[in-house]
Amino acid sequence: MDAGRLPGLLDREADVSCPHGMPTAMSCLDCILDDGVGAEDTPPVTATSRAFKARFPGTCPLCNLAIHEGQSIVHTNREHVAHERCIL
Ligand SMILES: [Zn+2]
Ligand SMILES: [Zn+2]
Repeated sequence: MDAGRLPGLLDREADVSCPHGMPTAMSCLDCILDDGVGAEDTPPVTATSRAFKARFPGTCPLCNLAIHEGQSIVHTNREHVAHERCIL
């Protein structure tokens, strides 16, 4: 009997992949922080202003799509603007 072995866990560790683009999770700071003890909780993105029309093109950090002039955007608690629709 070898009750101490957890083959499922070993398989999982051998097959780690990183969603951030690094070759392995072990080489990725974000993955290590995600799993690490004491990782900071990331507060949800919330709007800190009323919606207004974008005056400059940009990129929305929530959907990673372009913000075009004239679209409804809001300031957020992340020092970025985002599409109004992405906040709600
Ligand atoms: Zn990663
Ligand atoms: Zn967006």
